[in-house]
Amino acid sequence: MLIDCGPCNGTGAVGGVSCTVCGGDGQVDLTDLNFKQIRLEDRIALTGQVWSEILNKLGDLVPGDNVVTTHEVLTATDLDEYGALSDNDKASYGILISAGTLDLSEGEAGRTWLWGFFDAESTTRAALLALIA
Ligand SMILES: [Zn+2]
Repeated sequence: MLIDCGPCNGTGAVGGVSCTVCGGDGQVDLTDLNFKQIRLEDRIALTGQVWSEILNKLGDLVPGDNVVTTHEVLTATDLDEYGALSDNDKASYGILISAGTLDLSEGEAGRTWLWGFFDAESTTRAALLALIA
């Protein structure tokens, strides 16, 4: 796993001199055995860097509260209500469904589009709201 070198902030230099931790590359490979040769204080700085990278990646993987999979949207869609959509709306629905996930938060495109297809009294909208309740 490559991460930006903490001691030189990924620039490859410290005080105008080539960084001794990354050798001027600006990145360090945590699986490189030479990583163990790095001075303890630099390793401590890099450990913080690693945790920051890991937590950022996890944050990308864990969806927000109102994010649903399009499989859930498909399941929530009432077939009769889908059937009543215009051909244009069916095509747009198809694009939405291919996205993988949709954010059903207010103001988000996924919600705006779906709400345009299924009105407030529809079975589909009620089922979609139940997904994020
Ligand atoms: Zn460095």
